[in-house]
Amino acid sequence: MNASVFGSAHSLLHSTNWRLVAELAVAVVVLIYAATIFWVYKDARRRIASPLLVGAATLLGAVPPFLGPLIYMLFRPPEYLDDVRERELEIKAIESRLGVAELRCKVCGCGVEPDFLVCPVCTTQLRQSCTGCARPLEPAWQVCPYCATAVGVDAPVTLAQSAHPRPTRTSGTR
Ligand SMILES: [Zn+2]
Ligand SMILES: [Zn+2]
Repeated sequence: MNASVFGSAHSLLHSTNWRLVAELAVAVVVLIYAATIFWVYKDARRRIASPLLVGAATLLGAVPPFLGPLIYMLFRPPEYLDDVRERELEIKAIESRLGVAELRCKVCGCGVEPDFLVCPVCTTQLRQSCTGCARPLEPAWQVCPYCATAVGVDAPVTLAQSAHPRPTRTSGTR
């Protein structure tokens, strides 16, 4: 009688242990599953700008379980958004640096600043200054963008005028 009581108690303990182990295993798997979904969500947010696509990627991370994150890793954008933004800024900075460096005097080729009126080396007139505010004007401008003074056609433009004579408008052309 005693032996059978002990036996059933022992088997009960045994089965409880097994159930405990099984439940623990399920809990661990579920935890890892949740962690993979969370990882996909976090990674997608760093790589994808559109919230809708981030949601789609997270859904892919959840279904099919464990296989979804692997599929996501195959198709995710290769770069972080921060890196892309940083690189675009760098390219813009390089372009602006090159743009400044490319400004040269057409006659002697020495480097000039965008607001120089005359080349300091060969004294070629690079651009004329506004008669209203005295700021440097680009050769193509018809009006000063700073003070709206019309650029005089008969203003002295030494080289440009002799190379490309501007047609003077007369009143009797119509
Ligand atoms: Zn020059
Ligand atoms: Zn002006």
